[in-house]
Amino acid sequence: MTNPCLDCPTQQSCCRELHGLTVSQTEYDRHFKAHEDTITVFRKGALLEIWAKDGGGCPNWNGQCAVYETRPMDCDLYPFTIGNVFESPDEVYVTYHKRTGCPLVTEIVQAQSEAQALLEQFFAVNFPDRKISVVYDEGAVRLKHLAKRVVHKLKGRQPKTQVS
Ligand code: SF4
Ligand code: SF4
Repeated sequence: MTNPCLDCPTQQSCCRELHGLTVSQTEYDRHFKAHEDTITVFRKGALLEIWAKDGGGCPNWNGQCAVYETRPMDCDLYPFTIGNVFESPDEVYVTYHKRTGCPLVTEIVQAQSEAQALLEQFFAVNFPDRKISVVYDEGAVRLKHLAKRVVHKLKGRQPKTQVS
């Protein structure tokens, strides 16, 4: 199957305008630690969120992804994207959706079951001692669980801390 990203109408804006990529500590150490001068990093519990400084692109972008074979899960997940991650002492509750800026989202969206499996594996590896709940955000589902999960979040999450 041809990769539709090769004809991206926005010249791969998802990589050239990096804002809010969620990565594990392992992914960060592997692909972003060496580029700390070009990125801003926020710690969110056990995960990290990466923004390029000055609205710039991903430091791994050089006209194409320089780390494509081992790119972070959040890149592999695209154009699905993580919504919220609520951490409590015994559970991690994750929502995801496909409301993205990608103009080809209807063409390149992978099977939702694949995105679901990718997320479940990622969070199981990074939170091995907790129950993992991954829920596709269909609006109503999200609202139904939000109030309950906010309570968990307030109990369990660490303060959001900028680390660089
Ligand atoms: S995912 Fe969408 S925005 Fe990103 S390179 Fe592919 S077509 Fe372009
Ligand atoms: S790691 Fe690769 S796929 Fe992910 S944002 Fe950077 S350049 Fe794009």
